[in-house]
Amino acid sequence: MRIAVSKGRILQEALEIFARAGIVPEVDPERSRQLILPCRDSDLELVILRAADVPTYVALGAAELGVTGSDVLMESRIAGLYEPLDLNIARCRLVVAGPAGAAACLTRPRVRVATKYVRLAQEFFAARGQQAITVKLYGSMELAPLAGLADCIVDLVDTGKTLEANGLESYQTLAAISSRLIVNRGAWKLHHDQVMPVLARLRHAVEANQEHA
Ligand code: AMP
Repeated sequence: MRIAVSKGRILQEALEIFARAGIVPEVDPERSRQLILPCRDSDLELVILRAADVPTYVALGAAELGVTGSDVLMESRIAGLYEPLDLNIARCRLVVAGPAGAAACLTRPRVRVATKYVRLAQEFFAARGQQAITVKLYGSMELAPLAGLADCIVDLVDTGKTLEANGLESYQTLAAISSRLIVNRGAWKLHHDQVMPVLARLRHAVEANQEHA
């Protein structure tokens, strides 16, 4: 079976959980350029992808299992997936943030928002009765209000240091975020005998990880 994993922060933390579950790639994914990584003593292999591509691979059955952020799952809302386990890693918050002291933009009828979470931002502002003009960006969101591209951003925040270093502050939290195990619905039914033991091992590993945190 194949497990699709988001590269970056999620991969680093997921590898610790995988190791506790006895899922160990034969080569170190952080040093190798290999994109398909067979695992020791098993028929499992990891595929390392951009976060937003993980649900697509799993929903279309190119990977039976996947690990990605709940932010990605909420934004993409792809059908055909089960989400049986919160891995409780790569935890952060999805927030609306902007220049310190300028939270009044949350009360204006129209607001310009830079984000890669266009759907979540639209829904958040629509629920407040505000019209959001979204500017889709792919990185360095914090720059947008400073450069005059947007009034505020909807983005992930962990320690808040990046916001602070750029004179920004969080105005409101939209959601608490963590990484989730996702399973293709077809694989869940057809390969139940293979999926269940892996799920059980990962569940134990998550519990052990929390005890040692
Ligand atoms: P921080 O300065 O610790 O608040 O981190 C903020 C930066 O890290 C922002 O650019 C975020 O997009 C990114 N970030 C924070 N948490 C995560 C996460 N769990 N996964 C991916 N990126 C994150």
